[in-house]
Amino acid sequence: MSISENIAAIREKMAAAAREAGRDPKEILLVGASKMNDAEACKAAVAAGIDALGENRVQEMTAKLAQDAYTGAPLHFIGHLQRNKVRQVVGKVDLIQSVGSLELLAEIEKAAAKLEIVQDILLEVNIGMEEAKSGFAPHMVEEAAKAALACPHVRVQGLMTIPPADAAREENCEYFRKVCALYVDINGKLFHNNFKYLSMGMSGDYEDAIRAGATMVRVGSAIFGQRHYS
Ligand SMILES: *Cc1c(COP(=O)(O)O)cnc(C)c1O
Repeated sequence: MSISENIAAIREKMAAAAREAGRDPKEILLVGASKMNDAEACKAAVAAGIDALGENRVQEMTAKLAQDAYTGAPLHFIGHLQRNKVRQVVGKVDLIQSVGSLELLAEIEKAAAKLEIVQDILLEVNIGMEEAKSGFAPHMVEEAAKAALACPHVRVQGLMTIPPADAAREENCEYFRKVCALYVDINGKLFHNNFKYLSMGMSGDYEDAIRAGATMVRVGSAIFGQRHYS
């Protein structure tokens, strides 16, 4: 199957899941998680109408930007962002989805202020409270949102999450529902219901995420094929 055929098949499944949940398929965006795939693959996804591309590694993204890999689609940063690499990302991407610490938030504010721009971000929720994973613990998200509201060069557009990889299906769905509840709560309390993105769901679970309320899914291998780690 080609990248465009994969995208078309995923869009159909996304639409079916949306309709099942009584939602409009048009309100759910498909982000291609293009890590370890080359500029040609990214361009094929853009040509097939992907809503955005998401990258995980700064160095890889910088190299692919130089090859015009993303021209024609918004670019998101979705991976763990080290503070010393923030300046290579702020202003280069439309959305940083993976803001999971107050230190990183402060660093993004500083870099965006220097450029005199407002950087769109999502707050990452560590819904499984995993030690090794970045992201705010669920009970810390409101405090993080308040901290972000005090940053004039940062605009929070919503939340992002990656549930524990080993969760059973029903447990995974429960994580999605919890993050959705948090999204609705904080959106109403602090953001006048102006949030745009609840980013959750990957190749194996994007339909469940949509049924639980996702407005944005990040799909890699189901679009680009299996990644080969060497
Ligand atoms: C790689 C990645 C994805 C996509 O994973 P697949 O299982 O290949 O769909 C989504 N989100 C993030 C943050 C990723 O790093």
